[in-house]
Amino acid sequence: MTSTVENLQRYLDEIKKNDKQGKKINAFLQLGDEKKLLEEARQIDEKIKQKKAGKLAGKIIAVKANINVKGLNASCASKTLENYEATYDASVISKIKKEDGLIIGITNMDEFACGSSGETSAFGPCKNPQALELIPGGSSSGSAASVSAGFCDMALGSDTGGSIRNPASHCGVVGLKPTYSSVSRYGLIDLGMSLDQIGPFAKNVYDCALLFDVIKGKDAKDSISQDSKKLDLKEVEKIPKGIKVGVLDFKISDERIQTLIDNKIEQASKKYGWQIKKIKIDNIDLAIETYYPLVYVEFFSGTRKFDGRRYGKRIENSAGPEVIRRILGGSEISKAEYRGRYYHLALKVKKLIEEEFSKAFKKEKVDCIISPTVPRLPHKIGETISVEDMYGYDALTIPSNLAGNCAISIPAGKINNIPVGLQIMCDKFQEQKLLEIARGIEKMGEN
Ligand code: GLN
Repeated sequence: MTSTVENLQRYLDEIKKNDKQGKKINAFLQLGDEKKLLEEARQIDEKIKQKKAGKLAGKIIAVKANINVKGLNASCASKTLENYEATYDASVISKIKKEDGLIIGITNMDEFACGSSGETSAFGPCKNPQALELIPGGSSSGSAASVSAGFCDMALGSDTGGSIRNPASHCGVVGLKPTYSSVSRYGLIDLGMSLDQIGPFAKNVYDCALLFDVIKGKDAKDSISQDSKKLDLKEVEKIPKGIKVGVLDFKISDERIQTLIDNKIEQASKKYGWQIKKIKIDNIDLAIETYYPLVYVEFFSGTRKFDGRRYGKRIENSAGPEVIRRILGGSEISKAEYRGRYYHLALKVKKLIEEEFSKAFKKEKVDCIISPTVPRLPHKIGETISVEDMYGYDALTIPSNLAGNCAISIPAGKINNIPVGLQIMCDKFQEQKLLEIARGIEKMGEN
């Protein structure tokens, strides 16, 4: 087995070679101090020798720039917080450290998590390690890219409308959006607090489960956080029997992606005897229109603290156009004269979509719903695409945020050498089942 020191050294070498030079991935905004990291790695190896090490011992982990890691720069990839050094650890970070995970650095992202491509970062776009001229997806671009590029074992991201699953799909890695409230958000700089969820990226389903197992659970510092069922990591290795897979009753317009996913479902059904059932989720076509008013309003309200007094610069004077669009939009929708009309209407549709999912899982008794993760292939970095097209990337991921259920993206194969992800959605707090199904599909191998 390689030691933590060797593992760390290998990743540091790879980062030096290809993050700012060579392939110029630009996945990291900041790395931890090398000397300190090596010293910590040595201490972890010592603990391993003494059989006192935690569950994450030996693992090297990267963290998105909107999660506070004490002493590192939680910039949200924005000029607004360019010089903001975190003074405390987010709860997920304390948990990782307690289990001897080693945090290697802070990753690039869309500014304040507003975006789907990684291009809104104030510190330059991040590249897709699997297709260098293309976007890696977003907003957790650097976290997905760092796992995909071989810069670390695992990473943390946040997912408000797809920001873990979308870049996982484009970069060919595994990304989990846990059930809303199953992971503490204390220490996460929020985009939309009623939708945000921190979650793991990894090279495989097992590692993703391992990191989720460490970060989940009730936290006194986040009053809405809840305990979920115990995760049995050994069971994740077993193929679940008698699974009923729900498939949506519509097809996306990119037939290549749809066919790849359909074939994968077919293959799993044949191999494992899983049943397939067509289902209809009413109002799913309204997901994007419902999501944005909610995010605009919550983001506007959340950013009022960035007035240039306590943290960094005044956001209106320092942030990029997508952030400003949302602040202006949010301020407009929140105007007193509308009496919360748009926000409340969006909340109503959110509730309807949540009920539709619940119906599928509880009444129609499907164990999971499988779909493509992203309806289109990633565009070229710098290519101009419309706001609508950019927002459209998340059409299939947003529904799970609105419903609050758990969902994962795993690699399903490639089209023109570009990775394509398959999304599995399960009912709230059904991560055990979700991970078992994902592992089953992962085992079939890519083709
Ligand atoms: N792309 C979506 C947005 O721009 C989702 C972002 C996210 O999940 N953080 O809001």
